[in-house]
Amino acid sequence: AVPTSIVVGGGRAAEFGVLFRKGEALQALRNVDLVVFDKTGTITKGQPELTDLVAAEGFAEDAVLTLVAAVETQSEHPIAEALVKTAHTRGLVLPKAQNFQAVAGYGIEADVGDRRVAVGADRFMAKLGLSVEGFADAARRMGEEGKTPIYAAVDGKLAAVLAVADPLKPSSRDAIAALRAMGVEVALVTGDNRRTAEAIAAQVGIDRVVAEVLPEGKVAALKALRTGGAKEIPLPNPSPQGGGTYPALRTGDRAEATPSSGPSDHLLPEGRRGSMPGGLGSSSPLGERVAERSGRGVRGETAPRIVAFVGDGINDAPALAEADIGIAIGTGTDVAIESADVVLVGGDLSGVVSAIAMSRATMRNIR
Ligand code: ADP
Ligand code: MG
Repeated sequence: AVPTSIVVGGGRAAEFGVLFRKGEALQALRNVDLVVFDKTGTITKGQPELTDLVAAEGFAEDAVLTLVAAVETQSEHPIAEALVKTAHTRGLVLPKAQNFQAVAGYGIEADVGDRRVAVGADRFMAKLGLSVEGFADAARRMGEEGKTPIYAAVDGKLAAVLAVADPLKPSSRDAIAALRAMGVEVALVTGDNRRTAEAIAAQVGIDRVVAEVLPEGKVAALKALRTGGAKEIPLPNPSPQGGGTYPALRTGDRAEATPSSGPSDHLLPEGRRGSMPGGLGSSSPLGERVAERSGRGVRGETAPRIVAFVGDGINDAPALAEADIGIAIGTGTDVAIESADVVLVGGDLSGVVSAIAMSRATMRNIR
C-alpha cells in the first residue's frame, strides 16, 4: 500500500503545482513544525522597482542614477535590474563601468569614468567608512513601507539613498495564514535590512524575522530557529498583525502549537500572550510546572523541530540542503532547485500548504 499511496500523492501533487523530487519529502512533510521562508523571490515576486531617489546636496538625481545604473549593469542582483531599467526609461545613457567588484550581501563597486561608485546596503557604506546618518529619516520611512533602502556613494561621499519595492506574491498572505491555521510555525530569513523585513513580514502575517543575514549565514539562522532559538534570536517588535510573540516558540510543545495570536491574543498583556487553555503555555500554571520538573526548560526550547525551508536563490541552496525538507521556488535559480526536495513549479506559496496537506492525507491512507 505504501508505494501506491505515495504515487497517488505525487500524482495529485502535480495538479497543485508541487513536484516531489524525493519521495521521502512527502512522508516527512506531515511532521513539519516550522516553515522558514526566504523573502526576496519567495514571499515577494523578486521583481523590485525603483520607487524613490533622494539625492544629497550637490548631487543631481539623474547624474546619480546614471552612475548607479552604470555600475548595476555589471550585477545580476534583482535590484540591479530595477535600477538599470529605470535609467533606461528615463533615457539616460550609461557609461561603461570598470573594475567591478561585488561584495555578496553588501553591495557593488566600480569605476565609472574617473569616479569610484559604490552602491549597496547601509552595512556596505559602514564597511567603506561612510555614515548614512544624513539619510536616516528617509531610510526609516522607506523601510517602514516595506521598501529596501539602497545607498550610493561617489568618490567616498554619500550621494543618494534610493528605494526599491518588491511586490508581494498574491499567494503569500493566504498561504501563511493557512499554515498557521494548520498549527505550523512560520519565520522569515533575509539578507535585507531589519525594518524592511519586518514590514514585509507584518504584511503577510509572519512575526518571527531574522534579517540582515549574510549569504553564508542562512544555514546558521535556520539551525537557531530549528532548536527553538527563542533566546538566540530576538523577536521583532510587537506588530498589530502579529502580536509580536509567537506562542509556539514560548510554549515549546508542538502538539500545543496552535497559533493563537488572533485578534484577541495581542490584547493580552505581555507574558500572557500565547497561553493555551489547558495546554502547556508557559504562562499557564501547568506549563510552568512542567518546565520546572523537566529541569531543562520546556521541550520545544531544547528538542530540535522539523523544519522546512522555502527559497529561490543561489544563497538559499545551503539552507535548502540543511533543512529537513527543502522547498524551492520553481521560477528560481537552478542551484536552488537542485538542492531541494520539493519544487513549487509556478512559485505559488499555496503549494507549501497543499504539500503538507497531501502529506498528512497520504500518510493517513497508508495507515
Ligand atoms: P537578498 O537576497 O535578501 O536581497 P543579498 O545578500 O543578496 O540579500 O543582499 C543583501 C543586501 O545587499 C540587499 O538588500 C542590498 O541592500 C545589498 N545589495 C546586494 N547586491 C546589491 C546590488 N547589486 N545593488 C544594490 N544593493 C545590493
Ligand atoms: Mg530570494
